[in-house]
Amino acid sequence: MLRRATFSIEIEQKIMVTGRCLCGAIEYQIELIPGQVYSCHCTLCQRAHGTAFATQALAVGDTLNFIKGKDKLTDYFSGGGYRAFCSVCGSRLMNYAEDKSQYVSVAVGGIEDNDQICPVANVCIESQRSWATEVKNIPSYKGIPKEVAE
Ligand SMILES: [Zn+2]
Ligand SMILES: [Zn+2]
Repeated sequence: MLRRATFSIEIEQKIMVTGRCLCGAIEYQIELIPGQVYSCHCTLCQRAHGTAFATQALAVGDTLNFIKGKDKLTDYFSGGGYRAFCSVCGSRLMNYAEDKSQYVSVAVGGIEDNDQICPVANVCIESQRSWATEVKNIPSYKGIPKEVAE
């Protein structure tokens, strides 16, 4: 998701969303592009998010507005861009291109009411975990059942 965007974001539908980190120190608003939401399976996203893949929405960079906590945002340069996270709780929030005016991709997990923001494609599947497509076929529980917690 850190590659330079080559498509035009001007012609696509956008929606304003709000998001925040786990501890609440950082809150932001940004215009997302619902048609440009990707689950990235690259090894950089796996490590940075601590999970099998990262679902991120492309957004209009100059609409990013911090409601609070901009000074708590910190970033790490990797894979050609900046991966930004909360310096208090470590939540991954967004990625910037090297030139921060170019584009932003926002981690979908931090967005409020994010059910309407869902991935349209998987990318970087050459490094996809072999089980990542099988998760719909395993038992699912509300909450954490006793047999899983013990
Ligand atoms: Zn935080
Ligand atoms: Zn990635």
